[in-house]
Parts: sequence; structure tokens; C-alpha cells
Amino acid sequence: MSGAQVGTGSSARDAGGASAFPHILSPGRIGSLQLRNRMIMGSMHTRLETWDRPLEREIAFFAERAAGGVAMIISGGFAPSPEGRFEDDAPLIGPGSDLSYHRALTSAVKSYGTPFLMQLLHAGRYASLPDCVAPSPLRAPINRHTPRELQIGDVWRTIEDFGRAAALAREGGYDGVEVMGSEGYLINQFLAPRTNHRLDEFGGIFENRLRFALEVVRSVRRHAGSDFALIFRISALELVEGGMTGDEILRLAKALQLNGVDALDTGIGWHEARIPTVAYTVPRAGWAETARRLKSAVSIPVIATNRINDPFVAEQLVGGGSADFVSMARSLLADSDFVSKVEKGRPDAINTCIACNQACLDRIFLLDIPTCLVNPRALRELDIPILPAKRIERIAVVGAGPAGLAFATNAASRGHRVTLFEREAQIGGQLQMARRIPEKTEFDELLRYFSVQLAETGVELRLGADATPEALRGFDRIILATGVVPRLPDLPGVGLPHVVTYQQVLTGKVKPGQRVAILGAGGIGFDVAEHLIGVPGQAPQLDAFLAEYGVDVQSRERGGLRKPTQVPPASRQVTMMQRTSGKMGPRLGTTMGWIKRDRLLRAGITMLNSVTYRSVDETGVHIERDGKPQTIAADTVILCTGQESERTLQDKIGDLNVPIHVIGGADVAAELDAMRAIDQATRLALAI
Ligand code: SF4
Repeated sequence: MSGAQVGTGSSARDAGGASAFPHILSPGRIGSLQLRNRMIMGSMHTRLETWDRPLEREIAFFAERAAGGVAMIISGGFAPSPEGRFEDDAPLIGPGSDLSYHRALTSAVKSYGTPFLMQLLHAGRYASLPDCVAPSPLRAPINRHTPRELQIGDVWRTIEDFGRAAALAREGGYDGVEVMGSEGYLINQFLAPRTNHRLDEFGGIFENRLRFALEVVRSVRRHAGSDFALIFRISALELVEGGMTGDEILRLAKALQLNGVDALDTGIGWHEARIPTVAYTVPRAGWAETARRLKSAVSIPVIATNRINDPFVAEQLVGGGSADFVSMARSLLADSDFVSKVEKGRPDAINTCIACNQACLDRIFLLDIPTCLVNPRALRELDIPILPAKRIERIAVVGAGPAGLAFATNAASRGHRVTLFEREAQIGGQLQMARRIPEKTEFDELLRYFSVQLAETGVELRLGADATPEALRGFDRIILATGVVPRLPDLPGVGLPHVVTYQQVLTGKVKPGQRVAILGAGGIGFDVAEHLIGVPGQAPQLDAFLAEYGVDVQSRERGGLRKPTQVPPASRQVTMMQRTSGKMGPRLGTTMGWIKRDRLLRAGITMLNSVTYRSVDETGVHIERDGKPQTIAADTVILCTGQESERTLQDKIGDLNVPIHVIGGADVAAELDAMRAIDQATRLALAI
């Protein structure tokens, strides 16, 4: 069996109510800790320590989530040794650590009755430090530094470092630690023959490779005591060549239990794996089978992770016996009240993580402070407080795309009287196009969330309504969120009938032919290409996903890899073009860019860079490349050549003599950028 699909969740959403969640709302236990429910906030790398006022910021961030009812919180990773940090200013717990900082943070979180654990993470060869270390001197493909091999004395010192770090965590007020043993970090590097070529007692046969993990666990117990909660994040599926086999993973799980671990958290895939694990292209709860396998091998609790963004899915996982707890990280960036909304029987009110990675993981890779596309307050709680409006205003918002929706709902939640004008018969604007991209169905959740919010905050929604100057008279303030229109390039032949815009294609107004040329390979160009080769609006399917990437969740072969199936060739001939040299779609996010490029190439899409467009005629697109003329045969030419702000209304309402704000794409039309639009709209709405 490849792994049963747990479910999409949203189809059952209407059947909500707290009674729909008996399993995830039931109390549970991990070691000595009594937990109020089964929903844990998993470890996240916040990088708040690199910002101003880090303690205040951490307290604001974690306390908001504790107040939101999560069963337990696990901190971001702390390195137990200086050489185990990701980067120079990454968190470290060791001699000289300021425990008063930790005590202030832990007491703030625990004042809500929420247990707080520290994650201990030694990055090993993933540390972006020139003096990084590893079991063997093998450079990671995602790091430019080659690690130094840990000498035997260093190995034992590192084991002691883990124990001392746990003892310090206890002194700092934490209720336990999670030892990070997955995702390809140091402990995982000892476990897998891929990275462990040692000839001493820590290398070679599996009994030797697992020695480091077990000694770390024993060290933690020795230093921090038997009543200190100890979770081990085990690599439940490696997804790299030379990773552990399924049999080794189960043997490790049993050995960890025997050595006093209280619960197993499940990590999926090394960071260097070329298989998506958390993006929206991964089916929800797509890794449930790995947790279920662990559960069959141990009697301690097992925690399921990754792509759990919906309480119905979480309920199926726990109720169906795949896991005892679920751990969510990005879902709690998106909504700090996720759990309390489940408790109140209001799953429809959850602001769901859409697994885009745009504002969180992509920012981490840029060494920026992450936040969340659907919730720009995440990790900005101090900068964007929610306070009641000082003076209630009557505000007109024109345009119900992401910017207009975010502004209207946030302003109305503070007491303003908001009227939202939308020319179309439905809300969403550009979001309506996004949801038609295959596997971007999570965008449906954002539309659902905004619909519920509009009703709850009392926004007066006028659909199919033109916001004429007359209609806008009498308001105290006007917000123009009128979005963008496609930009037409100055190119001979662009007015021909077979030349269409991305908007016409993604809204279904035009059906492209069999030979398609796409001009422009930004985010929109890629979305259009995916739309052309897939089933618009279809959610990712588990069996197809596992087959396409060659994943065996039982890990019969090392790393859980098998031969991938051939991606079915696209049913039409598609050529994507961009003017710039280098890789296609250079501005696509780090986490999604490679997935999209890889996918389209495997489906047989042709990608051409360094293109100079000359003209379009009935035969196709005439271009020049490397100084040579070329014709790209096409019966449909799709323009993804940027957009322009739609601001025609602005000139007509200047004499209304009220403040006018232009937000979202109407303000800056660089890309179809929901992240910037929602951020700008939310900040403005919470400041007026
Ligand atoms: Fe989820 Fe996207 Fe927010 Fe990250 S930015 S937490 S992936 S919705």
C-alpha cells in the first residue's frame, strides 16, 4: 500500500461544531505532561533573535498562540554546541546563556497553562559556518562549506553538550526538550550511511550508526532527569539516496523508546531531498502512513506532522489511529486561534495556511524574518497591534480582491462601518484565478475565510456594483483596491485574435489551442503553463504524487525511494519564453521555484530564455535568440508580460474631498502579489 489519503477536509467543513472533533479535543499525555488536547505547535525557525526587542517579540508571538489554546509549544531550534548553529547569530544554549531571558519567555507562555519545550538542534553539515562538523567530511549539496569530521573525543563532547543544554533548558523553565533527529541534521547524519562513513563505534553497521542518537537521549536523561519531557523527532522518511531503510527507522524508534524517550515526532525528508514535503503540491496529511508505521512499532505517543492545516484532517489522523497528536507550525503562523476556533466549533472561521511558503520559508532562505501571507501580523505582533478604532468612520472599499478583502475585514473588525464594492458577481479578484491553477486549491480556503469574515465583521458587500463617484459620495474615506490589468507589450501583431491575455485564459474566457506560446515566465507565466497541462482546480492526489516523485512510504529501499513514474506528456505543445538570461522564472520563491520548473520540464514544456520578441502573426511568434531569427509555431499566444495598475477611478473622485488610499495591485503592479497586497491592506486597516 502506498499510503491512504486521509482526506481533503474542506468537503466536510459544513458539518463543523466542536462535536466533530472528539479525538483532537481530548486530553493526552506525553511523559509527565498532561496536555489539554492533541494539537501541538511544532518548532519553527523565527529568526526573531536577530531583530530588535527579541524577548518582547518572542513573548508576543508565543503567548498569542498559547492563548489560542494549543496543547503544547516547541521552541525554534537551539544548538547545544557553537559549531552546531545554522549561522553565527543563530540561537545557542550553553555555558553563558542568559537564562533570565528564557525564564521570562517560559513563564509568559506557561501562564496560559501551556507546556513549553525547547528544541535542541545541531545542524551538523547543514550549518552555514566554515567550521561546521559532521560524522564524515562530506559536503552537503545545499551548503558551500565542507564539514570537519568529528573526532571521537568531539563526538562524546557533543553528546555531553546535548545533556548540558537540556539541563539548562530545565533551569530556564522549559518543561522538556525535543531532540531534532531528522531532516538531515547532525543526528540524522550519524544514522544514515549517506553521510556516515566512519570506521569507529559510531559508524558502519546500524547498531553503530544509531549509537550517537541513543547516547544523546541518555545524556539528556542523565542531565535533565527522568521527569523532564523528552521528544525525539525521528526521520520517518528520508527521501534521499543512502538514507535509512524502513526497517532501520522502526528499529531506531523501538531503541529510542527503550532508552526513555517519551514521544516520537515525525520528520519527513532531508533538506537536500529533491522531493517536496510541505508545499501545496503535497496532498494534505500526505505523510500519514509514516506516522502510522511508527505507531505500530512503539507504545509511546507518535506525533504526525507536515501538511496538516485543517482540523478535519487532524481529526481523521488521530481518530483513525495514524497518530496520537498532530503538530502544526505554519498553520499557527496563519491563525494563532486555530485551536480555540476548533474548540468553539468554528472551523469555518480558521485562517488556513495555504502552503505557499512565500512569506515564511522563502524569507527564511533569504535570511529575513518570516511572516505569513494570509496573516501579516505573524511575528509582527508588536508592530501591528489590533486596537479598537478611536473614531468610527464610514469607509468605502472598491475592489474585493485580496487587498480589498483584507482591508475591509480588518477595518470592520475594529468598529469601522465598511462598504465593499465589487464589480464582479463574486469576491476574490485575482484569487479566483489562482484557485484555477492545478493543485493551488488551498486558495479556496482563503476565499472561504474572507467570506466568513465579511459576514462576521458586518461588512456591507455590494456585488455586481460599480463604484461610481456618486455611489462613493458620503463616505469619510475611500480605499481603492481596484487591482491590475494585463500589460500589452509593444509588439507588431499583438492585436490579432489568437493573441490573448493570461486573464482571459485563467478566467476561462478563452480556450487555448494545441500549440501555445507563452510570453513571459514570471509567476503568472508559470501558473498559466501549469493551468494548460493539468486539471484546473484539482487538488493534489496522493498516489499520483508518490508515484511521480518515486516515493515508497514503507521505505523498502534506502531513503524511501523508488523509480518515479513518467510524468504524462502535456496534451498540447507549450513553449514558455522570457527575455532575461539565466534560469527561467528567476524571481519564483526558493521553495516553489524548483518544483514548478522541474514539473513543467518533465511534462515536456519547452523553456526559452534570452529571447527578443520581434512580432506575432498567424504562424506564431517571431523571436531572436543568440542573434538568430526563429519562429515559435503557435495557434494561441498568451501574454504574461506584466500588469499595470488599474486606477482610472482615482481621477474621477478627487473632488469628493475625503482621504483616498490606493492599495494592492492598484498601488504597485509588479507581480500578482497577494502577499504584498494583504500586508499593505492589513497594516492600513489596523492603523486608521
Ligand atoms: Fe502558510 Fe503561506 Fe503563511 Fe507560510 S506564508 S504560513 S505557507 S500561508
